[in-house]
Amino acid sequence: MRGAGEEENEARRIQDVIVVGGGPAGLTAGLYLARARMDVALWEKDAPGGAPALTERIENYPGFPEGISGWELVDRMRRQAEGFGLAIESFRPMKEIRRGEGHLVVVGEEVEEAARAVILATGMRPARLGVPGEEEYHGRGVSYCATCDGAFFRDAVVAVVGGGDSAVEEALFLTRFASKVILVHRRDRLRASRILQERILQHPKVEFRWKRVVKEIRGDGKKVQSVVLASTDSGEAEEVPVQGVFLYVGNIPNTEEVRGFLELDEKGFVVTNDALETSEKGVFAAGDVRKGSVWQVAAAVGDGVRAALNAQRYVEELKGIAYR
Ligand code: NAP
Repeated sequence: MRGAGEEENEARRIQDVIVVGGGPAGLTAGLYLARARMDVALWEKDAPGGAPALTERIENYPGFPEGISGWELVDRMRRQAEGFGLAIESFRPMKEIRRGEGHLVVVGEEVEEAARAVILATGMRPARLGVPGEEEYHGRGVSYCATCDGAFFRDAVVAVVGGGDSAVEEALFLTRFASKVILVHRRDRLRASRILQERILQHPKVEFRWKRVVKEIRGDGKKVQSVVLASTDSGEAEEVPVQGVFLYVGNIPNTEEVRGFLELDEKGFVVTNDALETSEKGVFAAGDVRKGSVWQVAAAVGDGVRAALNAQRYVEELKGIAYR
């Protein structure tokens, strides 16, 4: 049994920094803070890795001329940070951040911890299209992750919806398994980077349905059987038989838990200044979750460094330690 004094001591333990989110931004911030010998922990709702862990291959992270698997890249980041002493708390979702007396309180499901500074690096997740059949067939033909589910569609015909880097990259990945990939885009030109466009536009397995939007995803109650597309010009609809529908129609920031606490932009991304400080003193934001992010792994890593150095300075000033 613990005495009241012990409980009070535990309640009063204030860590230097809690990093929330275990993608490239959070892992990099954790690496820098651990090397600075700060009392730091990283909370991650699942296992560390973030969105790049679900990316088959990353070709634009400098230092890897042959490219590297997304999972391996983030696993290396994790091992590097842990090697310098970063404590990673996996499967610990953050539910709320609030202000305590002279510190911040990070609230989880059955845990509550105090910290002088918090770095929010919770990233973003794929947006839903919001059409009939999407929820019903999610996991039964509808997917947001070709890297996770692609192998289930060997010799199948699949549709990929969207014209950005994610849609094109994942459509190219799906050509390894599928007999045909139908790329559905609402305009007549892709948004994706030129190198990806060059690859997909001449791919023999990819068919394009330009200026089309998805109206409905249909199936037999168990799995997807077709997708209903409508022309953006005439509105005319056609039903296209497919066994899978992969949706890449943008992203939503993971900021529901801090809504009302931090200033967010109209899309829900966290507003920061040049020092990556948010509207709340001691709370920094880094990576995809931040307004103005360019949503690249290399940029998230840079954000992680900047947030860590500024959080360290903030904590040391708070503790009365002269900064260098
Ligand atoms: P994105 O760039 O926002 O693209 C979303 C796509 O979905 C756009 O083509 C958009 O059409 C379309 N779309 C949006 N709402 C739609 C709707 N209601 N119905 C039909 N289509 C809709 O998202 P992303 O591809 O996930 O990329 C996000 C960020 O991550 C980007 O900055 C990207 O560069 C980056 N990223 C980079 C890489 C890489 O470097 N290899 C890989 C993945 C992602 P419009 O074009 O008409 O707007």
